[in-house]
Amino acid sequence: MAKIQMKTPLVEMDGDEMTRIMWKMIKDDLLTPFVDLKTEYYDLGLKHRDETNDQVTIDSAEATKRLGVAVKCATITPNAARVEEYGLKQMWKSPNGTIRAMLDGTVFRTPIQVKGIEPQVKCWKKPITIARHAYGDVYKNTEMRIPGPGKVELVYTAADGTEQRALVHEFDGAGVVQGVHNLDASITSFARSCFEYALSTKRDLWFATKDTISKTYDHRFKDIFAELYESEYKERFEAAGITYFYTLIDDVAARLMRTEGGFVWACKNYDGDVMSDLLSSAFGSLALMTSVLVSPHGYYEYEAAHGTVQRHYYKYLKGEPTSTNSVATIFAWSGALRKRGELDGLPELQDFADKLEHATIATIESGRMTGDLARITTLPNPVKLGTEEFIQAVADELRSELGA
Ligand code: NAP
Ligand code: MG
Repeated sequence: MAKIQMKTPLVEMDGDEMTRIMWKMIKDDLLTPFVDLKTEYYDLGLKHRDETNDQVTIDSAEATKRLGVAVKCATITPNAARVEEYGLKQMWKSPNGTIRAMLDGTVFRTPIQVKGIEPQVKCWKKPITIARHAYGDVYKNTEMRIPGPGKVELVYTAADGTEQRALVHEFDGAGVVQGVHNLDASITSFARSCFEYALSTKRDLWFATKDTISKTYDHRFKDIFAELYESEYKERFEAAGITYFYTLIDDVAARLMRTEGGFVWACKNYDGDVMSDLLSSAFGSLALMTSVLVSPHGYYEYEAAHGTVQRHYYKYLKGEPTSTNSVATIFAWSGALRKRGELDGLPELQDFADKLEHATIATIESGRMTGDLARITTLPNPVKLGTEEFIQAVADELRSELGA
């Protein structure tokens, strides 16, 4: 079979630990035998981030602005233990945080539905997509420890020098304080991405914040969504037969357990971080979830929603067998290749992405899966495969789908 051709390279962001091991297996077994893979490679592995003083992360985000589509492997966000483990020059920031701050936009996370992996919540029949705002709030905070009694104020100095002040707290002892921000422009593009995504997938859109408590900050989110909906989207939603629904975040948490799913749930940055992990594990597995950052400027970054699976990596290093689920990482690649195919007018590449996903799901539905799924499947007699065995089983399935 002649290899499928690409035009524009993908931005390839390599990562850490077990996901880095799977990254190479996926390229070797599922991609390069079939596709003339073109990528611009950035090594976001922690060692190389440290060597480049994290410049490589910035370069990879700049490349995404230039080329439009990126695929990212999970990466370590260093903490004190990692600084010691890797002998780091400093505790580098989260690469995802850096990249999202540069690209702006919204992260859409959708569970991958597979027969035999049933949601824990019995009434969920259709996937729920989380749309997570990827800018600001606690991810771009400024924090301080307050050593003792004193006053903390918010001070805004306008360009003309005039000031606005608000008392945060009059401390009579030690404590902590935090400053967070967001931007009308970013919230507007978040809202726009959510409305467009709901329209393109013909699903209702829910949005929730805590505006009863946060009467200015969260309320601003609520107002921007409402204004944009009224001025630009109401008629299109009605024509598409879908609804926009605003409520409180705690109300969604309660309602969620009684719906049949099938809608898009827009979340502020922190809510989306937490709720997407809750949803993915309730739908089956952290590794059965797609994740794509859609930037308002037309850039796309595909990734797995889970981390680097550190515990499995240490077993792997000791030569012990591992059974790590590569599905979300495979879908990051298929998502990026499909988008590249769409943008470059390459139907063959889009078709390959469809077949790669189909082959992955078919492998699991045939009863061959990694340990995390074998533990929870309702299929009789599942066969638990090792990390590479599973990828090879997908490759066999893919070859037969491609007639290769
Ligand atoms: P994690 O890597 O997602 O793993 C947590 C646990 O979930 C694993 O120990 C494993 O459970 C299970 N798991 C996750 N992905 C799996 C997969 N593909 N197949 C099978 N089981 C899977 O989270 P973490 O241990 O909290 O974080 C590890 C590192 O990842 C950290 O350094 C963190 O900074 C980084 N991280 C990166 C990203 C990202 O780049 N997007 C996101 C989150 C975390 P069992 O051990 O019980 O099998
Ligand atoms: Mg998270």
